[in-house]
Amino acid sequence: MSDIKEKTPPVRAADRPPVPGRVLFDPLRPTEQPQEYYDRIKEKFAEARDLRLSYRPDGRAQYTSDLTGELARYEIDPHVAEPDQREPISDTVEVLFIGGGFSALLTAARLRERGVESIRIVERGGDVGGTWYWNRYPGVACDVSAYDYLPLLDEMNYVPGSFYAKGPEIFAHCQAIARKYELYDLAVFQTTVTSTTWDAKAKLWRIGTDRGDTMSARFVICANGTLSKPKLSRIEGMERFAGYSFHSSRFDYNYTKQDLSGLKDKVVGIIGTGASAVQIIPRVAKAAKELYVFQRTPSAIDIRDDTPTDPKWAASLKPGWQQERREKHMRGPILTEQQKQDLANLPREVKIRRQENQNIEHMMRIHQRVEEIVQDRATAEALKPWYMHRCKRPCYDDEYLPAFNLPNVHLVDTNGRGITEINERGPVFEGREYPVDVLIYATGFEVQVTGIYNQIRGENGLELNEKYADGMRTVFGIHSHGYPNLFIMGGYQASFQFNLTFMLQTQGDHIAECIKYVREHGHTTIDAASDTEQWWVDEVIRNRGKTNRNKECTPGYYNFEGESNRRQDGNYNGTFFQYYTHMTETRKEMAKHFLFA
Ligand code: NDP
Repeated sequence: MSDIKEKTPPVRAADRPPVPGRVLFDPLRPTEQPQEYYDRIKEKFAEARDLRLSYRPDGRAQYTSDLTGELARYEIDPHVAEPDQREPISDTVEVLFIGGGFSALLTAARLRERGVESIRIVERGGDVGGTWYWNRYPGVACDVSAYDYLPLLDEMNYVPGSFYAKGPEIFAHCQAIARKYELYDLAVFQTTVTSTTWDAKAKLWRIGTDRGDTMSARFVICANGTLSKPKLSRIEGMERFAGYSFHSSRFDYNYTKQDLSGLKDKVVGIIGTGASAVQIIPRVAKAAKELYVFQRTPSAIDIRDDTPTDPKWAASLKPGWQQERREKHMRGPILTEQQKQDLANLPREVKIRRQENQNIEHMMRIHQRVEEIVQDRATAEALKPWYMHRCKRPCYDDEYLPAFNLPNVHLVDTNGRGITEINERGPVFEGREYPVDVLIYATGFEVQVTGIYNQIRGENGLELNEKYADGMRTVFGIHSHGYPNLFIMGGYQASFQFNLTFMLQTQGDHIAECIKYVREHGHTTIDAASDTEQWWVDEVIRNRGKTNRNKECTPGYYNFEGESNRRQDGNYNGTFFQYYTHMTETRKEMAKHFLFA
């Protein structure tokens, strides 16, 4: 785990900005340098993007998440010794969650508050926790302030121990929620939902699993997570590798030992330098004999500066404190009348240019930080990210860059090309072989896929992906016409938030209110009306593609690996507040926007 040193005296938590990952760009602030300075850097950004794209023009197809056959081992759960034995289940519950991560937990809590008793979580892993169940690699922690990221802090009467929570604390919080709201009672683990089929006659969902279950549920909530299925880069020869290998989300302590002492005589390779790798690398660097980091695109590494929670501040918190923070975040910065007027008078092009220029200034500060920390000049140059802030997930770590000063850590910079070949001994780049004992794939996940592992068939037997063939169609990314009593969390056409749990809580509150409405009005089903769905699709399209940002960014999962023409198949790019307001306004006229039976 991360061994960030405690600092004395601790900064009062309340003094820190609510979401430290956010860089606040202020269009009213004039830029610092002549415009040519920014234009030159933007050109370099474009060159880096074009180079990276030229090597992998195949977009998302360069990855596979079909982890079957030889690749099946990359998905095996290292946290359970063997599958627990149980008889298939064939009962009926009122609400069934597919997945047991934060989506399920925070929505289930809201349902309990509204008197729903019959709630089942069906989860692929051996416990609740989702991301925090699977990702237990050394250093795992969250990059969002714990006071905002951990949901239900008011309800749980809990204040996190430090500004940033580490994985084990978050996982324990998930378990505590499940205990408090009695969600373990009906939960089934090590079970994957494979089919979800609407029975129009019985007005029930029929759920099939890989354990032979035939469960039924009045309401189904797809809570399968935004980044839950590991994916691998398609690399020639990878199945021939004779050493040990695993995906970052299946970190195998059976091999490494819990304290990583199993790596002390091992040469380790890690492919990928995204947010997962950035947390793993410094910890493995200290434990392994040698560590080779295979980099395609560097991450932007900002200051973490974690601090323990000030007990006096924690004691001063009044009930409802987290909800207050959430509302404050949703409202955004409060502007004076003068600022509002100045903003309104600012031409759009100036606004965009200033934001871009400030973004570049920020990235140059990130470059400067690399130069200050990394001693070897060539390594420092290779670690500088050449793209706009937020083209990729920004990272916050105080130990990542110093790790490259250790004599046993070697950066293999592939300068946009990536590793394209692996042989029995290890990765090969530009004809040079890098023999390793262990290879860690930190190559990411499938993104925001609703029917992952699962086939969802609504009215008329139409599979959800078939319905989406010409573009996604939902209301708020949650309801889809023809799929009554089905609610989707964490999918596209919803707002995208750096703090995902803010967004999930908003969706969970909405879903709980919808189910309450159905129950209180004596209905059995709720479905999105077609014209409400059309309105939302139009709203998503209207708010997308306002800038060239997606096209100009270096490829990654944020911009579909550089693929274009995404129509409505992405996130809602209006503000989070707009997303929330649309939801609450819609709920004021339920009969107009939804169909009930
Ligand atoms: P990412 O998808 O962000 O990163 C995958 C990495 O693999 C990229 O660096 C990618 O390079 C690299 N890669 C892919 N193929 C190759 C190849 N052939 N050769 C070399 N490199 C390759 O996955 P992560 O698991 O790191 O992160 C996923 C998300 O999970 C994060 O964005 C974040 O939302 C969340 N997360 C959050 C954390 C936090 O709060 N701290 C920690 C961990 C994860 P390229 O960039 O060129 O595509």
